[in-house]
Amino acid sequence: MTGREIEVEVDGTGVAVPEGALLLAAVRAAGVELPSLCSDDRIGPVGSCRTCLVRADGSVVAACVTPAASGAHVEAAADDLRQLRRDAVELIASALPPRALTGDNPSELAEVCRSLDIGPDTARAAGGRGADDSHPYVRLDRDLCIACGRCVRMCAEVQGTFALTLTGRGADTVVAPGTGGPWAESDCVACGGCVDTCPTGAITEPGPGRGLTSAHRPAGTRTTCGYCGVGCALDVVASDGEVTAVLPARDGPVNRGHACVKGRFAHGYLTSPERLTRPLWRRDGRLEPVTWDEALGHVARGLRAAVADGGADSVAAISSARATNEENYLVQKLMRSVIGTNNVDNCSRLCHSPSAAGLTASFGLSGGTDSFDDVERADCLLVVGANPVEAHPVVGARLLQRVLHGAKLIVADPRAVGLALHADVHLRPRPGTNVALFHGLAHILLTERLADEEFLRERATGLSELTELLDDYPPDRVAEITGVPATDLVAAARLYGRAQQPAIVYGLGVTEHRHGTDGVRSLANLAILRGAVGTDRGYGVNPLRGQNNVQGASDMGALPDLLPGYGKVTDPGARSRAEAVWGVRIPDRPGLRIPDMFAAARAGDLRALWVIGEDVCTTDPDSNRVTEALRACPLVVCNELFLSETARHADVVLPAASWLEKEGTFVNFDRRFQRVRPAVPPPGEAWSDFDIIRALAAAMEADLGCPHPADALAECGRIAPVFAGLSHERLDREGAVPWPCPHPGRPGLDKLYEERFATPDGRAHLSAAPYLPPGEQPDDDYPLLLVTGRRWAHYNSGSMTRRGGNLTLDPVDHLDLHPDDAARYNVRNGAQLTVESRHGQARLIARVSEQTAPGQVFSSFHFPASGVNRLTSDHTDTVTSCPEYKVTAVRVSGAVHEAAGQGASAQTAT
Ligand code: SF4
Repeated sequence: MTGREIEVEVDGTGVAVPEGALLLAAVRAAGVELPSLCSDDRIGPVGSCRTCLVRADGSVVAACVTPAASGAHVEAAADDLRQLRRDAVELIASALPPRALTGDNPSELAEVCRSLDIGPDTARAAGGRGADDSHPYVRLDRDLCIACGRCVRMCAEVQGTFALTLTGRGADTVVAPGTGGPWAESDCVACGGCVDTCPTGAITEPGPGRGLTSAHRPAGTRTTCGYCGVGCALDVVASDGEVTAVLPARDGPVNRGHACVKGRFAHGYLTSPERLTRPLWRRDGRLEPVTWDEALGHVARGLRAAVADGGADSVAAISSARATNEENYLVQKLMRSVIGTNNVDNCSRLCHSPSAAGLTASFGLSGGTDSFDDVERADCLLVVGANPVEAHPVVGARLLQRVLHGAKLIVADPRAVGLALHADVHLRPRPGTNVALFHGLAHILLTERLADEEFLRERATGLSELTELLDDYPPDRVAEITGVPATDLVAAARLYGRAQQPAIVYGLGVTEHRHGTDGVRSLANLAILRGAVGTDRGYGVNPLRGQNNVQGASDMGALPDLLPGYGKVTDPGARSRAEAVWGVRIPDRPGLRIPDMFAAARAGDLRALWVIGEDVCTTDPDSNRVTEALRACPLVVCNELFLSETARHADVVLPAASWLEKEGTFVNFDRRFQRVRPAVPPPGEAWSDFDIIRALAAAMEADLGCPHPADALAECGRIAPVFAGLSHERLDREGAVPWPCPHPGRPGLDKLYEERFATPDGRAHLSAAPYLPPGEQPDDDYPLLLVTGRRWAHYNSGSMTRRGGNLTLDPVDHLDLHPDDAARYNVRNGAQLTVESRHGQARLIARVSEQTAPGQVFSSFHFPASGVNRLTSDHTDTVTSCPEYKVTAVRVSGAVHEAAGQGASAQTAT
């Protein structure tokens, strides 16, 4: 498409369509509906079913593959054309069994047949090709397959998994997994793309959502996915208070009609019998159901007593990157204005706090620099410390498509993550050596004169200090530190340095280190050196946020040193803005960060801790010490969906609503505010966190105002000018709006810094921080380096994804180890291992895999019973206290038992 429009005449009506559009778009723009059984806007056209025939300038053509020519005369409604189309559809339908067209099949084909007066008796085939029921989320009825190939193309052209193929000949052609066996054993990652595009009901979601697709569905509730930070827009179909199906929104700004196995299918937890439905209060050592009044009264008394005994700073709250913006806003307001402390933090402390610190220092604001759509123009992607194919699947799919369409790809990751298979250069640094790696690349950019001298002169600062530092990082030395061959470093630097539109996308492999903030800043150096940030060249520097609202939780000021909109609590001007709105004095001393809260509890200085929606005993590092902290704290209050490991240690557990049951907004990884809306009511007496926070304030005889979440966002905008243009009403009208957005009548900023950087001097700041080693190194006692992260089917502590079909897809936490290490330690694939670090022990199932390099092992932490975070250390980023999850020295032992299956026991253990 060129951006220009052309005029086409359809049945005598003139329509304008973009240059390059197909006739099908022109005909539809004229209001004429055509069947098009082999086409879907999300994939390329093939013109195989011949059901969209029209006449263009005298010739009968398939509208779905014929480009619209300027001034073309198109006939669509003529009787002969309608008959041709009807014949084509009738021929297709006749090869199917009667159930293809009966009333309980809501398929596109059945609808087309009804519109063309093709009756169910047309479908007369006997069938008998059987079904594949092996997969929890995808059912194949081979008799309904018309071999249109839409599913195969969705899998290839949108998802990029290439799991499906068409097999057989002629009328026997049918879709099948490319691996040949049952669907459940195929490469399918259950994104639901095939389910959503299938026009006949051959591929469906089993259960009540059977046959529903994003094109053919009953009215649903538009909301934003509550799993990862991609922020997919979803349409939720519900019936009798239960979710029937979750469908990808075709107009979702990031997902564009796509989703992944979590957002699309992992909603079974909503109706789990393990959901908490009543408040619980620990009496005589047991958590017992009580009324809300009893629970809140007890918490309010406990908080008052803590303040009376130890002062306001003896109370702390851990807010949640899973909760809405409005909930995060309200909890920090309660802590600051009612309790009188800045002891509020959120779990971005554990993932992207180095991004906030690093990006702010380099560029001025804490968010990614660009809209993700800009990546479509990138000719070179540098993907660092991220496995988006598994952890951010919709972004992973879009990045992969960009590569398949010609962009160069550099992957920097110790593991052979999914995208690495498609990389032009895969850099595999030793865990903990990122800063040296980035300095090595920067050294080559400078020495090979690939830096943008004009940009550096006009818009950046710090070049001389960096140049001096980089003298110490020639390729050979960097190769020694990182283990990356010097030739690969040079190849990668040249690819990035010579690209016209380079893009940097990074993940927790950059941040979760002892020097994570230095990692972010030295990575940002590369974009500054190339002038690929704040210009129309490239896609800047963009973090992939782990949880759905990591960005928003911090934007809202759920941080111990920052108010809503990132004003410092130490800045009298920032404080006075909030004080004017709240009508109270705000403490000027920064509060405790999450790791410091636990330390204070262990030291006896913290008397009350409120944990909102985080299973800190499972997901925080050195988790034995976290548990110790909770035991030492006199009052622990927990808002939760389930009786998590953390909730088990609480004195009061408050049952909370999930993201599908409440109102508000999230901010995704590219700074877009999007609405969250309730599709179903919460179970039993569960409340939204918003209502819980307000009710707790009321129990303390305080009024937080903001009766509705919309009021909270509006109030936040009065404190933080960057959000002043946002409102629920605007988001309802416009969909997604990025921040900064200071004016209600003007769009938010997709791309930052086009005129100046937001630093005090308006310049991008190069960082000259030297490489320093990680907190742990392997030695004779602990010879392996453990890296932790997510797998595709699960999400963090797995409290939601383990309660449904995803458990079938991935039932245990594995320890991946290289075949050389498996041989060295006599580990068999599938054996149950004891893994030990200097901090604790975990039990994992061995998976021998070349995805990890020799000397390194990898595990997820989705099953609390495996205890992976008992292994991780208390080393933290020197700037932000983000834990060093990515470098732990471990050893394996006990490779003697065959795996008995960890999933079922883990399921019941939480
Ligand atoms: Fe949800 Fe992320 Fe999957 Fe999108 S990619 S559906 S936001 S988990």
